[in-house]
Amino acid sequence: MTSPATATSSQELFDRARALMPGGVNSPVRAFGSVGGTPRFMVSAKGPYITDSEGREYVDLVCSWGPALVGHSHPDVLAAVHAAVDNGLSFGASTPAEAELAQLVMDRVPAVKRLRMVSTGTEATMTAVRLARGFTGRNLIIKFAGCYHGHLDGLLAAAGSGLATLALPGSAGVTEATAAETLVLPYNDVAAVEAAFAEHGANIAAVITEAAPANMGVVTPEPGFNAALSRITAEHGALLILDEVLTGFRTGPAGYWGLTGGAADAAEPWAPDLFTFGKVIGGGMPVAALGGRADVMDYLAPLGPVYQAGTLSGNPIAMAAGVATLRAATAEVYATVDARSAELSAAVSAALDAAGVDHSIQRAGNLFSVAFGTSATGVHNYEQAQAQQAFRYKPFFHSMLDAGVYLPPSVFEAWFLSGAHDDAAMERIYAALPAAAKAAADAQP
Ligand code: PLP
Repeated sequence: MTSPATATSSQELFDRARALMPGGVNSPVRAFGSVGGTPRFMVSAKGPYITDSEGREYVDLVCSWGPALVGHSHPDVLAAVHAAVDNGLSFGASTPAEAELAQLVMDRVPAVKRLRMVSTGTEATMTAVRLARGFTGRNLIIKFAGCYHGHLDGLLAAAGSGLATLALPGSAGVTEATAAETLVLPYNDVAAVEAAFAEHGANIAAVITEAAPANMGVVTPEPGFNAALSRITAEHGALLILDEVLTGFRTGPAGYWGLTGGAADAAEPWAPDLFTFGKVIGGGMPVAALGGRADVMDYLAPLGPVYQAGTLSGNPIAMAAGVATLRAATAEVYATVDARSAELSAAVSAALDAAGVDHSIQRAGNLFSVAFGTSATGVHNYEQAQAQQAFRYKPFFHSMLDAGVYLPPSVFEAWFLSGAHDDAAMERIYAALPAAAKAAADAQP
């Protein structure tokens, strides 16, 4: 056992944590299970960099799994948080900042007519599912294999993300009765959705989908796929829940919906009945939300019969961080993230090509990931994502880590950039790529 005073290396800290917490972590993918080695224990982050307990600095391509869109420790966000802290940490009562954040969300995503703040993405999707059931009076939910919506019981089947990383089909502890209320369909397969509605339409409360999947690696929704979900659900009196926890305010000011159904020049405009948000909306503090049609949202307590509550919902510090982050997420930030994403994915692809590593770059807006051994077909669904040569990622990841680049510790995650990723940070990544590509080429299953 190491005492906190002397535990400075990640190995010492991990040994200590393992004696105290399951697997030494508070969220499974952090344990480096699929890439092996010792997870880095981080102590500070600024701009595009993150620093571990041994003082090693990395270019961060995880960005807290999405929230750090404007870069770590953005001065405006820190100032807003410091100012809010001075007024007290939590009141358990309404505060002005909640409406401020709600207004910012609605200005960006006009299909949101009412918003309810919660603390995690899981809470947002859990509430959205309950609300859909309460509103429609129906039980069944359709989800897609490989889409992750948080760790609520009913949506853990074929849920990608950490489950894919750990090769788990679902979770123990979910009752058969709960699992039976979720129909899991292949992603990008409109015919499967139509068939499910033909058979169970009168019992389907909602379809939930990631606006663009990014938890089985990134998968592009086929043109018209989300629009078809909107049309089919409407035809059958079910709701469409668009999960923008990861994509929201990241792939653009109005998330992935803003690039598709909500785009000014959308060929086929559509809007979901409910959205879920998280990550960027709190800028690194625990904020998430659900929002959408007023008639559906007003089914929530205290107006309606669907109950939902939270001691820390709308917490003033978290709201301050969210407001400051959305304000700092200017058109320039989006332009930077878009451009860096295009440059980086091209550089990764060139390095892998030069090393003779078969791959495809999976892209949805400014989100991307690399799928190994998939160039023949690309990845359009979970089956293809799982069939890739995932073993090539482990040495690739460690080569990058050793060179001072912090990638997601799983091939099934997106790579995250920020508006703070400047030329110096990008150069460090580019310099590391050839050796990492060579390591991927040499990898054995
Ligand atoms: N939905 C999506 C699309 C996500 O990517 C995540 C988390 O990564 C969640 C929901 C769950 O959010 P949280 O981890 O805040 O519970």
